Amino acid sequence: MNRILIVAEHDGSHLNAATAKCVSCAVQVPDAQVDVVVLGSAAVAAQAATLAGVAQVVQVANPANDSQLAAVLAPQIAALVREGYTHVFGPSTTFGKDLMPRVAALLDAPQLSDIMAVESDRRFRRPIYAGNVVLIVEVEADQPVIVATVRTASFGEVTRDGSATVLVRTLQVALPSHTRFVSMTQANTDRPDLQTAATVVSGGRALGSADQFKLIEQLAATLGAAVGASRAAVDAGYAPNELQVGQTGKIISPQLYIAVGISGAIQHMTGIKDAKTIVAINKDADAPIFESADLGLVGDLFSILPELTQRLSSR
Ligand SMILES: Cc1cc2nc3c(=O)[nH]c(=O)nc-3n(C[C@H](O)[C@H](O)[C@H](O)COP(=O)(O)OP(=O)(O)OC[C@H]3O[C@@H](n4cnc5c(N)ncnc54)[C@H](O)[C@@H]3O)c2cc1C
Repeated sequence: MNRILIVAEHDGSHLNAATAKCVSCAVQVPDAQVDVVVLGSAAVAAQAATLAGVAQVVQVANPANDSQLAAVLAPQIAALVREGYTHVFGPSTTFGKDLMPRVAALLDAPQLSDIMAVESDRRFRRPIYAGNVVLIVEVEADQPVIVATVRTASFGEVTRDGSATVLVRTLQVALPSHTRFVSMTQANTDRPDLQTAATVVSGGRALGSADQFKLIEQLAATLGAAVGASRAAVDAGYAPNELQVGQTGKIISPQLYIAVGISGAIQHMTGIKDAKTIVAINKDADAPIFESADLGLVGDLFSILPELTQRLSSR
């Protein structure tokens, strides 16, 4: 039997939706028991226990986990996995990409990145070349543990009607002192999280300045949406780095993606391949983004956006 451990992503009080998507992937592995480890509070463990398909939640209570440093979490996860897990999955988010390679290194195990489909307990699909090629990768039979990150855009969330048992553990693991939490600076925004938002409004190079990028923020505020940006907009300093969508930014799967003044380069489109509806606003009717858009509006964003925002907010 396969035993899969999923590392929960959370902010100390709320379970991130990425965890429910990892469970969705794990339950497709044949003959598997799926557990979740919460290196954090009882409140988060209780949320994880409601995820359908989860057998057991292991809550590791340790104040050292408050700051969720990958260097501190990794040895604890590795210790748990050594108790008999065959797979350990984390989300392919910034959190998971930082953490899971450390877990793999500590276990001397192979890491699979960006699982998008399960073929068997050792065989998975993953995208490469900005999603243009899909690889089938198989871990050799002599490897006792498989470490993987799950491409969250490829899986829906499991329902929250489960009732897993919660096991509270303390682990006797030496934690590293070479990495210490100093402080955290968070962007002061009341916008939804880009990686889990149902609606995202993104702006590109065409916005022309950080000041004009506020047109994107205003439309997003009206729609209760998250804000995203193309790499060109980020590189030009119109939007912060963490808002970049695409191959080297965030991979997202919102219900609605509105791309404003974005040409539709392959590296951008790979980040929104799984968006349900794409709306493009661009003044060039031949812009490549219109090939992927469900709805397109050809025109100047500087006249369209203020009118659209005004009409939507007066609804
Ligand atoms: C290895 C690699 C990784 C990359 N990773 C990413 C990534 O993660 N994310 C990403 O986005 N890019 C990425 N890129 C860059 C990518 O190739 C493009 O350069 C980038 O996406 C272009 O951004 P853009 O669409 O905003 O700008 P442009 O390509 O310059 O497009 C601007 C668009 O705005 C339109 N426009 C101009 N003025 C107006 C107006 N007034 N009203 C309406 N429309 C207007 C134009 O017609 C044009 O279509 C990567 C590139 C490489 C090589």
